[in-house]
Amino acid sequence: MTKKFYELTPDERLALLTIDDDVRAALSEQQSTVNAQLVENYISDFRVPIGVVRDLLINRQHYQVPMATEEPSVIAAANNGAKMLSAGIDVQIGRTAMIGQMMFVTEKSLADFVQAHRLEILDIARQARPSIYQRGGGLLDVVVRQVSENETSVDFIIDTQDAMGANIVDTILEAELPLFESFHPLGVILSNYATQQLVTATADIAFERVGGEHVARQIVALNHFAQSDPYRATTENKGLFNGASAVVLATGNDWRAVEASGHAYASRNGQYQALTTWSIKNNQLHGELTMPISVGTVGGAISVLPAAQNGLAILGHVNADELRMVIVSVGLAQNLAALKAIVSGGIQQGHMRMQYRALAMQVGAEVDEVKRLVPRLMAEKHVATELATKILMEIRN
Ligand code: NDP
Repeated sequence: MTKKFYELTPDERLALLTIDDDVRAALSEQQSTVNAQLVENYISDFRVPIGVVRDLLINRQHYQVPMATEEPSVIAAANNGAKMLSAGIDVQIGRTAMIGQMMFVTEKSLADFVQAHRLEILDIARQARPSIYQRGGGLLDVVVRQVSENETSVDFIIDTQDAMGANIVDTILEAELPLFESFHPLGVILSNYATQQLVTATADIAFERVGGEHVARQIVALNHFAQSDPYRATTENKGLFNGASAVVLATGNDWRAVEASGHAYASRNGQYQALTTWSIKNNQLHGELTMPISVGTVGGAISVLPAAQNGLAILGHVNADELRMVIVSVGLAQNLAALKAIVSGGIQQGHMRMQYRALAMQVGAEVDEVKRLVPRLMAEKHVATELATKILMEIRN
């Protein structure tokens, strides 16, 4: 009997794809046996560069932070932001718990039912996942939330300790389903809107650190713009996630979950706004960033992926709360660097060298040629692919 595509080995799958032989060979060379176990129809790895923020001072502790990103200038900007924040970042973290939803379309009220069965609900959760209780976590609370006239969510607040917790939450929710059978639940799933995992980073920065009082006031004005204009806010938050998501990825965490939650939180006041606020306080630039961060340091792919283990080792094997603190701090540093670059004459100037390195490789320059081509491009007024190719040919001749 012929095997189904998903039953084949990675190389057997590659053999069936319509691709050139050199592409097939390159993909085959990049395979890893660990990653082949992680996803379906695996054929190869997609590698992303890792860089570091050399020194980030958070709650009086120094961290070296791994960042995985393909975007040039992000890591340079994060280091720049960390330098401006070298007096230190204060991070506050409250209770961190996941929210699991059981969803109903019903006119009936669930509040009395939940109240009457509270002990039974807690007991079912304990039996469904005893190990998370042994680790100090488990179901903390059950809240009935009326979503609309006939739609109700029963929210299960679950402490998943150092795991991101998606599977832990879903296991507990599924065990609770039979108890609610008479209300005909629509289904159960965790919510990625992690409002029980809010983390706040604040920093006070002397004007000299950002290039003087005028620059500081321009940063405040630009940030204020992003509180009023969703077009600007989207870009400001994307810039913040350039840093935050790079740390999320470098530690094997789910950056889609963190970004989805962050963008939802940015809309909590009814309009999409910048997540960070910058102001002048006590004659200093004051920054504040609160965002939901749902990550883990164990479980899921984290415990399996060697790259995630390396990322956590660079950080010094932190727990999940410390990782949250690092992520929010990198977000703040990244945001500060971007705002400063924009008000100081544009982002493009700082990006140039990295962009030209990418362009040089794109037109076929070898490592040695890149070193000679980039300074030549920096000296040009209007750089495009054609010009880069022309100068590369000149270097080669
Ligand atoms: P796991 O299901 O892997 O559970 C955590 C594991 O870590 C358990 O085996 C647990 O052991 C172990 N562990 C060891 N130390 C600790 C500790 N200190 N605290 C907690 N657990 C510990 O992982 P998650 O529940 O975190 O699930 C995450 C995965 O789910 C991710 O891959 C995610 O992408 C995926 N997912 C995401 C969804 C979403 O975002 N919407 C939906 C569904 C899945 P023990 O069993 O002994 O307790």
